[in-house]
Amino acid sequence: MKTTFLLIVGFLWSGSGIKLQEKSIIKPAENILCLNTDTRNYYRINDNGIYIYSGSENKKAGKHEFFVAQEKITPTGLWMTLSPMDSVRKYYKQGKFPLSPVPKNNPTQKPVKKGKLSGIRIALDPGHIAGDRATADLERKIVPIEENKEKGILNATVIEGVLTLATANHLKELLEKEGAEVLMTRDKPNVASFGMSFGDWKAKKFKSHIDSLLKRGEISKKKYDFYRLRAREEIIFRDLFLQEDLKERAKLINAFKPDIALIIHYNADEKNTDWIKPTKKNFCMAFVPGGFSGNLLQKQEYRIHFLRLLCSPALSLSVKYAGIICREFEKTLDVPLARSSDAEYLQETSVFTGEPGVFARNLALTRLLTCPLVYGETLYQDNEKEYLNLDHTRFGQGQTPQRVMDVVNAYYSGVLKIFSK
Ligand SMILES: [Zn+2]
Repeated sequence: MKTTFLLIVGFLWSGSGIKLQEKSIIKPAENILCLNTDTRNYYRINDNGIYIYSGSENKKAGKHEFFVAQEKITPTGLWMTLSPMDSVRKYYKQGKFPLSPVPKNNPTQKPVKKGKLSGIRIALDPGHIAGDRATADLERKIVPIEENKEKGILNATVIEGVLTLATANHLKELLEKEGAEVLMTRDKPNVASFGMSFGDWKAKKFKSHIDSLLKRGEISKKKYDFYRLRAREEIIFRDLFLQEDLKERAKLINAFKPDIALIIHYNADEKNTDWIKPTKKNFCMAFVPGGFSGNLLQKQEYRIHFLRLLCSPALSLSVKYAGIICREFEKTLDVPLARSSDAEYLQETSVFTGEPGVFARNLALTRLLTCPLVYGETLYQDNEKEYLNLDHTRFGQGQTPQRVMDVVNAYYSGVLKIFSK
């Protein structure tokens, strides 16, 4: 059945009993939201509802900072999902949410084109920014394989930002042909989601940006002076420019209110230092929201995200959609799906969701987006069989490698399986 996220949340809100809610949403959500036992110091769920605490002492003393009554859990999740984070934050601090009226979804602006995906909104986020060697070196999202004739290894330059943008561009075309309305968070090499290159931003926005961070108390005077006077280019790029870009991506996607957001990345072997040699390893995987450590929940901002994810149907939809898309990765690319033991970050900072290849992990874009999302990590760019096929300098201008088209097709068939009749 063709349906949309808003129809689903609307149905859950109006149509079904709370017991079902607890079984179908809260229980699995709780399991993948908690990275470790410390996380449980910050909340309690019982027959009355959900309690959020600012720490274990307050939990022991029964002093909650926020409470959602059982009968309000679904409307609260829906309200938090559809409201801008600024107003969620404001009401959380006051201790309660206005549950009515729920903000309306934006009406579709473009004329609806007929197709298997008509009426479906899809946000595409091509990961990273770099479109050339210099920017990729700053971003450190580059696989610069060094030639080794004895071992039959050829020189190659694989830039993740080039691959993700090519993937998103082709995917957009296919999805729009089937009537989907598509948002891209960035569409030009080296240009951030707020429409500026690093050079432009540094010249025009950097100073006012650090001024406002200082004013809001987000950085100390010492840190401010460091950024202003001594920080190297790549520190400013990664600490400030990229962080601003991620926040803007989340803002754009949340304002679009899509049925699904696809965050497109390519992976690499974490143990392969500087990626100058090829690796034998190759896996695909996908991330969804979750994996909050107790440490993180010391900050109220994270507790707000935790509560939203606990009540929102977006989390269970993300797991379901990511499972479908991972099966397409495995089938189309003929690369195995990762298990927890295949990478340290899967073991230490992620929670296995029960869907093959799908892990809950607290990344900026899994935390800040309120819609169902799939954060895809296809292929190891430094894999011995992949790297030459992913080096854009080996292909003619405007040519997309077949291996990238395989990734496009994997996402595309996954989306068709999720949304078409
Ligand atoms: Zn990436």
